[in-house]
Amino acid sequence: MSELVDLRSMTLDELKDFTSSLGEPAFRGTQIFDWIYKGKKSFREMSNLPEALRYELEDKAYLEKLNIRTVQKSKLDGTRKYLLELSDGNTIECVFMKYKFGNSICVSSQAGCRMGCRFCASTIKGLARNLSAGEMISQIMAVEEDTGEKIGHIVVMGSGEPFDNYENLSKFLKIVNEPKGLGIGMRNITVSTCGIVPMIIRFAEDFDQVNLAISLHASSDEDRSAIMPVNNRYNIAAVLAACDEYTEKTKRRISYEYTLVSGVNDSVQSARKLVGLLKGKLCHVNLIPLNEVKDNGFVTVRRSKAIEFQKVLENAGITTTIRRELGDDIDAACGQLRLNNE
Ligand code: SAH
Repeated sequence: MSELVDLRSMTLDELKDFTSSLGEPAFRGTQIFDWIYKGKKSFREMSNLPEALRYELEDKAYLEKLNIRTVQKSKLDGTRKYLLELSDGNTIECVFMKYKFGNSICVSSQAGCRMGCRFCASTIKGLARNLSAGEMISQIMAVEEDTGEKIGHIVVMGSGEPFDNYENLSKFLKIVNEPKGLGIGMRNITVSTCGIVPMIIRFAEDFDQVNLAISLHASSDEDRSAIMPVNNRYNIAAVLAACDEYTEKTKRRISYEYTLVSGVNDSVQSARKLVGLLKGKLCHVNLIPLNEVKDNGFVTVRRSKAIEFQKVLENAGITTTIRRELGDDIDAACGQLRLNNE
């Protein structure tokens, strides 16, 4: 028997092509798409499809789903961290967050990660594999079902490097944005990258309405290479040149993320260098006091240090926020999501 295909990983156009390949009219593809995002989990429930087609779908296709293994609920805020099991036994995490502007989810794009950022928990065991578009979407659907709440915002900032899984990321964005899919506006989505230069350029072409966040984390190549191996491939100048191209094309403001690590990148001198890099750009800086990860030796900064760093940037006219971490008590904060959490 040939391998079953996952219909949850298909964009609306792909699903129409798929039904055409079965000798069915394209509108059947639209009907199936509609049912999937109304939450139907089996082809049997898709009551407006001819019976023969429902059987054929059962033979040839499936709908990806993720099993919730555990849910941790923060006592501090409404944050929930989910440990989800993939069909091959790997596990991933995603995080549900409640903000004043609505509900948001932090989605993982890979099981594990191969970028090797030294302060991040997701990379400790390396990359297990890319997630399919269906597995990314299923994170949202599983959380919506569990909470009974609609999610309106997405950040692709869970485990993994989204631009290391560009094709699936791209399908994912098209499906969530599709009005018949999850109907989430492109402007309500943020994708965060450690700086894979060719993909930043491609992203500007493909998704000029989606927000882009760049994990910069240092203001000199020496400092950045010491904590982010990707800098040896794409250094700061290359990343910023790609970002300039992105801004030129999209006119959108980029968020630069800067995780403050004590004694590594938190000095006033580092802040001044950062001003030198970013001054005059259409940007925003997000300072993230390091969330400590067991055993890696990096230490977070004092609040006063973060404020001092922020002041240097603000005085130079660069809007800067210090990120308020949600779900700190359940290790749901940035860089604390792990592969195969045991
Ligand atoms: N791979 C992507 C997205 C995942 S991480 C990227 O690098 O952007 C989301 C953000 O959390 C990134 O800015 C990442 O560098 C940051 N981060 C990782 N580990 C962290 C930690 N321990 N404390 C604070 N932020 C961390």
